[in-house]
Amino acid sequence: MRTRSTLTLIAAAALALGACGAPAAEDAAAPPADQAAEAPAEAPAEAPAEAPAEPTAAMPEATAAEAEGDAHATPHFAYEGEAGPEHWGELDTTFATCASGTEQSPIDLTQATSEDLANIAFHYQPSDTRILNNGHTIQVNYDAGSYIEVDGHRYDLDQFHFHAPSEHTIGGQPAAAELHLVHKDAAKKLAVVGVLLEEGEANTALAPVWDHLPAEESPETSVGVDVDAAAFLPAEQTTYRYRGSLTTPPCTEGVSWFVMTTPVTLSAEQLEAFTAIIEANNRPVQPLGARELDLDSTP
Ligand SMILES: [Zn+2]
Repeated sequence: MRTRSTLTLIAAAALALGACGAPAAEDAAAPPADQAAEAPAEAPAEAPAEAPAEPTAAMPEATAAEAEGDAHATPHFAYEGEAGPEHWGELDTTFATCASGTEQSPIDLTQATSEDLANIAFHYQPSDTRILNNGHTIQVNYDAGSYIEVDGHRYDLDQFHFHAPSEHTIGGQPAAAELHLVHKDAAKKLAVVGVLLEEGEANTALAPVWDHLPAEESPETSVGVDVDAAAFLPAEQTTYRYRGSLTTPPCTEGVSWFVMTTPVTLSAEQLEAFTAIIEANNRPVQPLGARELDLDSTP
């Protein structure tokens, strides 16, 4: 057992270093990236029969952020060059959906069908600000207990993170940035609420995060100040809705997207503070294909 245990630790450590050298996967830091996200815990268990006891011992080697699902084992990907979005599907077999998927995100939000849909009920409360820089985005892992309800279905808020420029576009136009509030239901199905951020007045709700933006790749760290996701939302909460995917590898589909029609603002200084750390991390828009894009026309 001792030998096995040591090997397990080495394997976990090796995986933790990863090909990318970074905890990857932003939206993927949430649940559906099970294959990738949980690999560090499962992969060492090449002796599955012994797994129950030993992986527990191995866990301290993996970071807390990794335990949250920041897949260190996710292969390297980037936003330009040979590992850029056009090549994601070829980078790893687990990324195949990035190329072969037919319901991918983001998309251009245009020609939506207006309908009176059930509103999203937000049940957000403040959370400790547990922030990390995974090399692809800056993310805050959210305390349990905050959730949305849509048509009586509950999705718990798991984490939020940012893209700049925005990933979704409206009539072909990107916003300065985009916030993704990533939720999962009991069956680990994802619902992401997107909020476009355009340059304007400073956004004070961002302060707990922006005051502690990690300049380097770093594991989850509590900054000791609460953040309130409710304060990120625009006053009018009508949304575009469609069925899509993670916008980062492995581009897993089956994600319910809700993108706020009304943007909020951040200041030029706030935008600059983010983009000085994270270079353009927006996946290009994907074809809508046979999907329907709905617009909830009633607040
Ligand atoms: Zn995202």
